[in-house]
Formats: sequence, structure tokens, C-alpha cells
Amino acid sequence: MKNILVTGGLGYIGSHTVIALQQAGFNVYIIDDLSNSQLEVWEKITAITGVQPIYYNIDLKDYNAVSVFFQSHKIDGIIHFAAYKAVGESVAKPLMYYRNNLLGLMNVLEAMEENQLDNFIFSSSCTVYGQADTMPINEMTPLKRPESPYGNTKKVGEEIIEDFIKITDKNAISLRYFNPVGSESKGLLGDLQIIPNNLMPYILQTAVGIRESLGVFGNDYETRDGTAVRDYIDVNDLADAHVKAIQRLLDGKNKSKLEFFNLGSGTGSTVLEIVTAFEQANNLKINYEIKPRRAGDIVQAYADYSFAKSELDWEPKTPLQISMQTAWKFQQQLDKVIE
Ligand code: UDP
Repeated sequence: MKNILVTGGLGYIGSHTVIALQQAGFNVYIIDDLSNSQLEVWEKITAITGVQPIYYNIDLKDYNAVSVFFQSHKIDGIIHFAAYKAVGESVAKPLMYYRNNLLGLMNVLEAMEENQLDNFIFSSSCTVYGQADTMPINEMTPLKRPESPYGNTKKVGEEIIEDFIKITDKNAISLRYFNPVGSESKGLLGDLQIIPNNLMPYILQTAVGIRESLGVFGNDYETRDGTAVRDYIDVNDLADAHVKAIQRLLDGKNKSKLEFFNLGSGTGSTVLEIVTAFEQANNLKINYEIKPRRAGDIVQAYADYSFAKSELDWEPKTPLQISMQTAWKFQQQLDKVIE
């Protein structure tokens, strides 16, 4: 059995990936400092798969702690999610974001080198493309400076990995996600955002009555209905892509030492289309009001995932309707816990 370390494994995409790894027969170690996750997620993973992953609360900024972990475990591959991800907060606290996201990354890479480990998957984002000039976005689309320090930690993170890979014999894959949505089928795990950053948690909190209405940021964009276009991809599909990516490295099937893959549904949806999809999937009504454009927002971004399809044998499988239903299930589970 291969041992995979998942940093940030109690977070949204991380926890779904842990489940997918366990179901594919991997032995999973989780490192998570609980800065944006909860210990209960560990129990929920165990309840879903019947297997308890080994968990350590380690701050990746602490090199000694990272080094001790790697010295005492035999790790075959690393999937590195652990990072702060709130765009707005990153604008207000750029140094906190650069320190956490880049120092954590560098410490893991350093420990890989120190312990002669290989096979690194990086959790990146389509934010590295900024507002691309052409749609859909493929891996050859030129990168632009991201609008936020958060986004820039992903772009600089990729550059750090690239420079590191050049001088070592290591192999890495950077996965650039579009907008993750949905939850595992029981709704036990999801995108827990107490103060939301993203569209989906805002919709969920409006549906459940925590918020009176959803603010739709701008309806004067040059799009079908004037609202901005994104590519919403189910989190379970993203999790599967991580399993395929780590397997590719373990099997030595990668064609270069550092590969990049876009992971999206391939379909652009406007904000209002997502609101309608949520309403129809769950038979609910969402109050919304049109607000001014949000600073830093791009008009549109959607993926060409054909490279992931041909090389990783990956394609999105979950219809948007199902993602909308599992997301709502997750929100309802949360309320049960809070009551
Ligand atoms: N959005 C919105 N209302 C909200 C949150 C987001 O209209 O309360 C819009 C946002 O302007 C963008 C889209 O929904 O056009 C997706 O936003 P999100 O923050 O989820 O992702 P990102 O902008 O990072 O792709």
C-alpha cells in the first residue's frame, strides 16, 4: 500500500481527496493546522470510508516539525493543499498570505529533498491566468499577474516548484482548479465558510435564511445575461483528478518533470444561471439583488480540460444539478450540528 501525505487534508478539496485516495486503496496521512478547518472532519472522513487516516496537527511554517514528520514516516507521494484561500483577506493581509502559503510550500519541498522523497501534487488555481484573452482556457494560455495576493501565491508557488524541480530529480504536477462546488453524496463534508468568500456559500446561507438576499456582483458585463461567467466543477471530480495525478507520478507516466493541468467542467455559467440551477435542483427560491461589480473580478473564465482528459484520463462526471443538491445537503447537515 502506498503512503500519501495530504497537507490541508481536513479542508474542502483536501477532505474529498482523502476519501477518494482511501477508496482507491492508498494509505493516507493528513497534516492540517486547523486554521481553516475542523477536527470533526477527521471523524467524518472515517465515518464515510470506514478507515481512519492518520492525522497530525502540524504548522507547515515550522520546519523542525515538518522535518520530524518526514523523518519518521515513509511517504510515497505528497498532495499539498494547505494554504489560506480568502481573496479579500489576502488583499488586507498580504504578508500573512505570502508567509503562510509560500513558506509552507517551501518547507515541504525542502523536506522532500532532505528525505529523498518524490511525487508532488500542487493545489493551484485558474487565477494564475487572470482575465485570459481567449476562451476556453487551456494550459498554453498565457499567465497574467493574478489580481490578489492569494492568487499570486499560487502563481509564485508554481514558479518555486519549477525552479526546485530544475535542480532536483523530483517530479511534480500542478492542478489548476476552476470553481469547486458540491459535496460528497451524504453532505457530511463541504466548503465550510462561516464568513463566505465564494458564490456557493453565499447562495447556501441565503437559502437557509442566514442572509436575507444574495448580492449579485454586477449585471453589466458583456455576457449572456450581464453577470460574470465561471466554470463550476464538482469537488468529487476534482478529488478523482488528484488520485489520477498521483498515480501518474507513482507509475512514472508523466511526460515532463513538471506538468500542469486545468480542471474544470468545460462549461461557463453566469451567476444568475447558477442561482437558477440551485433553485431548480432543490425546489427553492433565492432572493437576490444586483449590486455593483466586485473589485478585481474578471468577466469570464472557463476551462478547456482536454489535456487532463487525454493525459490523466480524467473528465468531469457530476452534473451541475447534483453538485447543487449535495451542496444544499451539506448546508442542512451543518444546521443540524449547530442546532
Ligand atoms: N459572486 C456574486 N455574489 C457573491 C459572491 C460571488 O455575485 O456573493 C460572483 C462573483 O462576482 C463572481 C462569481 O460569483 O462573478 C464567482 O465568485 P467566487 O468568489 O465564488 O469565485 P471567483 O471570483 O474567485 O472565480
